[in-house]
Amino acid sequence: MRSPRLTIIVPCYNEEAVLPKSAHVLAEILMGLIQHKQVNSESKLLFVDDGSQDATWALVKELETQLPVVTGIKFSRNFGHQNALMAGMKTACPTSDMMITIDADLQDDPQVIPEMVARFHAGSDVVLGVRNDRSSDSHFKRWTAERFYGLMNRIGVQLVPDHADFRLLSQRAVRALLSYQETNLFLRGIVPQLGFPTTKLYYRRRPRFAGVSKYPLRKMLSFAFDGITSFSIAPIKVILMLGVLISGGSLLMMVYAVIQGLLGTAISGWSSLMTSLWFLGGMQLIGISVVGEYVGKIFAEVKHRPRYIIETDDYTVTQQPALLD
Ligand code: UDP
Ligand code: MG
Repeated sequence: MRSPRLTIIVPCYNEEAVLPKSAHVLAEILMGLIQHKQVNSESKLLFVDDGSQDATWALVKELETQLPVVTGIKFSRNFGHQNALMAGMKTACPTSDMMITIDADLQDDPQVIPEMVARFHAGSDVVLGVRNDRSSDSHFKRWTAERFYGLMNRIGVQLVPDHADFRLLSQRAVRALLSYQETNLFLRGIVPQLGFPTTKLYYRRRPRFAGVSKYPLRKMLSFAFDGITSFSIAPIKVILMLGVLISGGSLLMMVYAVIQGLLGTAISGWSSLMTSLWFLGGMQLIGISVVGEYVGKIFAEVKHRPRYIIETDDYTVTQQPALLD
């Protein structure tokens, strides 16, 4: 039987510090798999340059000449980690029987890749890499991650805790994934929805090999917020509940004020009036902004803009339409 073809997809954003090392580590693992006939000799290491401003792309080009397994595509600008993963899978899918996505910084243990491939041979379409030790992450990162997974579970989004974007997907699983057309992508929420035989593989997460995290707090928060609003309308419900509670409260206030008026007790009221005014104004603004977030999402979806633009693709129009007959 023909051995299957594997593509390892590595998103890179300003990763010049780690790229040569990770390319060599991953290439070695891939060559080992090829030698042991676990995957066929056409298997590749695909770097997706997410619009880096440093020497990342030059390094990919150089690695292509040094290591025959290396190929790369380059975005025209930074489109984000999730889009880089999608582009990698879309590019590799037609020719690959399985695809593994892994970060460029060697935080996810590449040594478990052979085990992932073994699970594929044993019949798994989806193998999720799950971190069982995050001691290399900062306390803050771990704490926020825990809160995030907890919150997502409570609002009904089934995430696999401590599974990030290190996973193997079979070709048919990727095909199913690519049929999700949404512009706002949250892969780790979508993958568990795909179904197919799925297994988890535990590994230890390490510190970044070199360079700094490309997920500063701002990006992390917006990623989390995106995750929530892409999968659930719970925030709108929370706002609704709050609105009902507050309006109920203000009704009681009104009754109280009327009774005071009837009793003839002077209402000095100014401060309570102002506080409730500001409070309600704030609540309304929050409410509008949450609804606005969803409207914004709909806006982004209906425009059907491309998720990413690959600079290395040939977009030139070769056939000019004939203007004059
Ligand atoms: N990354 C990317 N585009 C971005 C941000 C990050 O392709 O806009 C890549 C990055 O190069 C790395 C992976 O996504 O390979 C994970 O990023 P990072 O290690 O910085 O995140 P962390 O591990 O700190 O969560
Ligand atoms: Mg990392």
